[in-house]
Amino acid sequence: MELVILGSSAATPIRERNLSAIGLRYRGDLILFDCGEDTQRRFIEAGLKLNKSLIICITHFHADHIIGLPGLLFRFALIERNASLRIFGPRNLFLYLYLHKKILGLRTDYNLIIYEIDHENNQLIQYHGLESEPPIDKIDIENGVIFEKNRYFLKYALMKHSITTYGYAFVEKPRYGKFHPERAQDLGIPESNLWKTLQTGKSIKYQGRIINPIKEGIVDNERPGRKITYSGDTAPCQSLIELGKDSDLLIHESTFAKKLSDIANEKLHSTSVDAAHDAVKMNAKKLILTHISARYQEEAQKLLEEARAIFPNTFLAQDLMTIKIE
Ligand SMILES: [Zn+2]
Ligand SMILES: [Zn+2]
Repeated sequence: MELVILGSSAATPIRERNLSAIGLRYRGDLILFDCGEDTQRRFIEAGLKLNKSLIICITHFHADHIIGLPGLLFRFALIERNASLRIFGPRNLFLYLYLHKKILGLRTDYNLIIYEIDHENNQLIQYHGLESEPPIDKIDIENGVIFEKNRYFLKYALMKHSITTYGYAFVEKPRYGKFHPERAQDLGIPESNLWKTLQTGKSIKYQGRIINPIKEGIVDNERPGRKITYSGDTAPCQSLIELGKDSDLLIHESTFAKKLSDIANEKLHSTSVDAAHDAVKMNAKKLILTHISARYQEEAQKLLEEARAIFPNTFLAQDLMTIKIE
């Protein structure tokens, strides 16, 4: 599992920093959080493939988080993409993309599903492709879970910003414990489908005997899954703390330094110190500061120092930086 920073600037791009976009690679899937202007360029620079199954989670409709989305979809049309694409975001996400089809002729000849999160009604509104009269399904949301696959799920929560904004969490399901094939061999169990069952921690019946792989030391105890949380734009809020509880990695906006906390409060953004306090409150293991105001270029290090004084395991996002999540 690996995080790739594609854009880490707030509001305006600078030479070293593109606008918000962060990719999470997990077992052949790519989950992209936000899609700032020109994300397609960073996508290529980061070596990400254009024709692979992709999930995009848009936090809100401020231009610096969304303008790159049509650009990326036009790029997909150019390469005749056929891999599936799911896009999550606030209400009007379908309309936003539909206008690009209607006015600019955007083609999406692949399996595209658009999900608008309707927080008030606790529902997902699902659109299949960009047809003019889309079939719309409504799905109830339980516990904030908006998407589930066999090994992980995605959750959202409402943040505290000047327009409707969602934070997202990637939650890996508990993983099977480490498998010790030599123990299975010691017990005389031949390499077969039985091994596959044992690897999942389930007991088997072998030669009339029930074998519990955990008790027999064939597999270790289940390992907790990993959790990555992305704040989007937000002032500190309780719903982010709950969403990100016990995260292995928290990616938190840090638009301003501590000195500009008045502006941060007024604009409903966070400072480096806010981000660090949130990491402490949610018991996160590691913090990445992103969405850095263009006013800090060399001085971005100062934001890092301020946060580290409170939460030492903090890092400053740099475009094209990758972070492995063990
Ligand atoms: Zn922003
Ligand atoms: Zn914003």
